[in-house]
Amino acid sequence: MQFTPRLPKVSDIKDKVVLVRVDYNVPLSSDRTQVTNDNRIQASLDTLRFLIDHRAKVILISHLGRPEGKAQPEFSLQPTAKHLGKLLRQPIQFVPDCRGEQVATAVSALKPGQVVMLENLRFYAQEEANDADFAKELAGHAEVFINEAFSTAHRAHASTEGVTHFLPSFMGTAFATEVSTLHRLLTKPKRPFVMVIGGAKISDKVEAVVNLTHLADLVLVGGGVANNFLKAEGFAIGQSYVQDTPADLKKKGVDYVAVAEHLIEETKPERMLKDGYVPLPKIIYPTDVVVGTSLEAKASQVIDLATDGKAELDRVKPNWMFLDIGPRTIKLYQELISQAGTVFWNGPMGVFENPSFAAGTRQIAKAIAKTKATSVLGGGDTMAAIEQFGLTTEYDYISTAGGASLEFLAGKMLPGVEPLLEK
Ligand code: AMP
Repeated sequence: MQFTPRLPKVSDIKDKVVLVRVDYNVPLSSDRTQVTNDNRIQASLDTLRFLIDHRAKVILISHLGRPEGKAQPEFSLQPTAKHLGKLLRQPIQFVPDCRGEQVATAVSALKPGQVVMLENLRFYAQEEANDADFAKELAGHAEVFINEAFSTAHRAHASTEGVTHFLPSFMGTAFATEVSTLHRLLTKPKRPFVMVIGGAKISDKVEAVVNLTHLADLVLVGGGVANNFLKAEGFAIGQSYVQDTPADLKKKGVDYVAVAEHLIEETKPERMLKDGYVPLPKIIYPTDVVVGTSLEAKASQVIDLATDGKAELDRVKPNWMFLDIGPRTIKLYQELISQAGTVFWNGPMGVFENPSFAAGTRQIAKAIAKTKATSVLGGGDTMAAIEQFGLTTEYDYISTAGGASLEFLAGKMLPGVEPLLEK
């Protein structure tokens, strides 16, 4: 299937009024006046500079938090407008509403290269309901639409999908880079393609894990997610965290441990050859783990799950929790990562916030930083971990889109992406 992002040419935007959907849903200080992390604002700057340099008149739209369809001052986008003004070194006019006369007046006063920002779209329930009249009203102010908010592309909202019915629509550069990187991962990864998966919860990534397991050559499992696999394989895991399957999914016959069991079963005939001759199972889970009695524990101990077989398993005390991957597992994962052509990593290998259980995540983060493979990282906690280790600049691509990335990696066509592809 052809997958070509539609990017605006200069002639598409020059001297035009351009509606730009950004994701300025950023953390604010407790008094709600300062932006405390501006990564998402920074991500939109290339597109905005391109528009300003070509004399476009720019209308910015975004959401912030969950105001549930009501105007609530603590969810105002005003601090982000101020912050953007500093970054662009030009004033950004802020309109305290996203519909009505005030918007029309501000837009008609715009001069080439000027930027106006409208108030939080989610002050109106029509935004999330993808109301056609609301979308038409937003679109009515502009001649062109650019979406620079890939992180919201998995939702069919008025500002992500609705407006594309009324305006020529394009991807922003950051949106296009992100979606193209993820698309390449799904369609032509350099092999061997190694997926490293961890974190505590499996629920938000289960569909992406299942889809990528079929596409990858090797799946290295760590973190709390590994407990699902260990439990599925019949290991005693004491009090280790295993996310409960929510009741509504259970009713539909879903069970996270059963998902792990099914994946192991399904991939049994698939092997990857290491060093040209050693066959490896496709899914690899820890053969040793670091245990403690709580997430905050100071004391830890390494338990071997494989060498001594049953004798070791009997030693797993009922109050133990598996809180990191052990040294032998780290060594194996490091070696496999070093031979990869592509690595996708989502989720820490252990409770990295506690120094007693941080070694697995640190060593795997370093191994991925060191490999020549193309590395793509995702997930908020993976980000927090590499920040903690000072490794943020060591990877090829860091996906910040959360839910949208995971849905895309699950193989779904997202409602906010489809209208922005060349037909
Ligand atoms: P997630 O949001 O699902 O990516 O989970 C991230 C969190 O998983 C981090 O805060 C880690 O502390 C936690 N975590 C990683 N490994 C384990 C483990 N073995 N048991 C419990 N929590 C874990």
